[in-house]
Amino acid sequence: MSKTVFITGSSRGIGAATAKLFYNNGYNVVINYNNSEKEALALQKELPGCLLLKGDVSKEKDVSEMIAKTVSHFGSIDVLVNNAGISVVNLLTDTTLEEWEKLFSINVTGTFLTSKYATKEMIKNHSGKIINISSIWGVSGACMESCYSASKGAVIAFTKALAKELGPSGITVNCVAPGFIDTDMNNDVEEADRKAFCDETPLGRIGTPEEVAKTILFLASDNASFITGQIIGVDGGVII
Ligand code: NAP
Repeated sequence: MSKTVFITGSSRGIGAATAKLFYNNGYNVVINYNNSEKEALALQKELPGCLLLKGDVSKEKDVSEMIAKTVSHFGSIDVLVNNAGISVVNLLTDTTLEEWEKLFSINVTGTFLTSKYATKEMIKNHSGKIINISSIWGVSGACMESCYSASKGAVIAFTKALAKELGPSGITVNCVAPGFIDTDMNNDVEEADRKAFCDETPLGRIGTPEEVAKTILFLASDNASFITGQIIGVDGGVII
């Protein structure tokens, strides 16, 4: 029987690449989007049989309903990928409380809520995989991204603690920390900054969403059966 993966924020970028890769590897795929309906519908068309769910990961009602719909449609939830995220690039002194709260509600509260509701299902089966998407900035901190870095650091601490809590229930919890990946999130980055980042990266280039997706697929597979609580960098070696 096919396993079911629920990928938050899979209308675009890393989430969409992950949805395609899991689909091509035989998973039942649940695509979640919040705003990008056009992109989500196009992806649904590309992946016949997948389940498309609109919902805001920062809202408890949306999350509980999406997890319930996943289980009633496919029978279980085997893999949860907490990918939905936003960034704020600004000086701390220019960042508003509203921006901080929105960032934390999606990047951190979203990860908490989906994990909470999916875990209830996974515990029943005594198995499951949770893969959280952090960032290199959650490891090392980025200048002008203190709030984003803090939110991604929280995702790392959450991963480690939850791995300890859920290990006895047969559930692994791991984290992927991507470096600079070519998605809409980086559309505003100047060409000179892109080049400077490539120069600092041992592999000399930025990464693709597909490269992150392959690591997520590995962590969801039986090949990663004895791996939990780990933070895996997919960053071309920029943090060593
Ligand atoms: P992206 O292209 O901007 O896509 C972000 C995705 O998150 C979209 O599908 C968006 O869906 C979804 N999303 C945002 N708010 C949401 C909400 N409230 N509820 C549900 N979905 C929501 O970004 P990306 O680069 O693929 O980023 C994916 C993840 O990787 C994020 O957690 C990001 O922090 C992390 N990351 C990215 C990079 C990078 O360089 N790109 C590096 C490190 C880590 P809608 O458009 O439908 O709202």
